[in-house]
Amino acid sequence: MPLVVQKFGGTSVGSLERIRAVAQRVKATRDAGNDVVVVVSAMSGETNRLLALGAELSGRPPRREMDTLVSTGEQVSSALLSIALTEGGAPAQSLTGHQTRIFTDGVFSKARIRRIDVEPMRSSIAQGVIPVVAGFQGLDAVGNITTLGRGGTDTTAVAVAASLGADICEIYTDVEGVFTTDPGVCKEAHKIDRVTFEEMLELASLGAKVLQIRSVEVGMKYGIPIHVRSSFSDAEGTIVGGNDSLESVVVRGVALDRNEVKCTIRALPDHPGVVARVFEALAENSISVDMIIQTAALDGRTDLTFTVTQTDFDATRDVATRAAQEIGAGEVSLDNSVVKVSIVGAGMRSHAGVAARMFRMLADHKINIDAITTSEIRVSCLVNQAHGDQAVGALHAGFGLTRNSQ
Ligand code: ASP
Ligand code: MG
Repeated sequence: MPLVVQKFGGTSVGSLERIRAVAQRVKATRDAGNDVVVVVSAMSGETNRLLALGAELSGRPPRREMDTLVSTGEQVSSALLSIALTEGGAPAQSLTGHQTRIFTDGVFSKARIRRIDVEPMRSSIAQGVIPVVAGFQGLDAVGNITTLGRGGTDTTAVAVAASLGADICEIYTDVEGVFTTDPGVCKEAHKIDRVTFEEMLELASLGAKVLQIRSVEVGMKYGIPIHVRSSFSDAEGTIVGGNDSLESVVVRGVALDRNEVKCTIRALPDHPGVVARVFEALAENSISVDMIIQTAALDGRTDLTFTVTQTDFDATRDVATRAAQEIGAGEVSLDNSVVKVSIVGAGMRSHAGVAARMFRMLADHKINIDAITTSEIRVSCLVNQAHGDQAVGALHAGFGLTRNSQ
């Protein structure tokens, strides 16, 4: 019998009415001749509510206790859904991370799954009882409850699917699927039918929040196709991975990341070890750097520009200023009036001149480019925030992503 893992996000189980609707969908999937394993998130808003309770009692609540606290959200929704399923004639039972035996490392609030014992889920299925797994949680080597980071139920679901060798992992959410770009930025945006794992990894790291990035990594590693779809309709969503014969389009999506800050250090002495020192200092402070540009040396001095995320604004200013003094560099400046626009598509590998076309499209709209980075299947440009939306619209249309041109 085909095995389907169905994950329901917070809004999909946000009320008893929604939970009843989910129960009907799960039952219909089972009645159609599938084995089903369900994975649920906490009811919408619940994780934030619990985090706020802990934070009210302490500015630095013990991390172990915070994980125990927030993991309860998923325990509630898994039990409620099991009640609704059983009531609707499809016997079900909730399983916490402990009961499912999802083993993780011991890093509270961002634990990684090491191993899943499939026995509890398998024996439930064998008895005709649908397992409803509480997402987002596991246990470490000494039995502490751990959680997997925000959005972690996606990763639980794909990891459960991988451990059981499921045919597909369906992720039910409150949007129709993955979009060509943010519909809030460009009204031409539309749902993508299929996307490769690596394209999805790029889109997720550029801020497409529809899947936790680690769930995509797990799906890719174990070859589990992920179907992202709406729990509010029966429409097909977006299939991530799956069919290898997927035609490779040059540009699958356009992303806008407003989270970038540009930092420039002027007049660095041009000798070995200087740049290493700056980035070591940033790394020691857990500041991750995205784009990097070093200008050619002039009179023994170079300028260095790099980007970091908004949350690291203050830390970057402090660290860069200190490093600049240490190495005898000039002035440090930070600028958060920049955004990053990116095009992503696996077809870039086999097509020349994609970057050139992107730069030309931006130039034709008189949009200046501040910095550029690329991967094999992505080109990103830093532009002034005033031009972000316009850049997205131009690239979306220019690369033929407008609905009728596909
Ligand atoms: N409830 C957790 C969160 O809000 C995990 C999840 O929903 O995936 O982040
Ligand atoms: Mg989510």
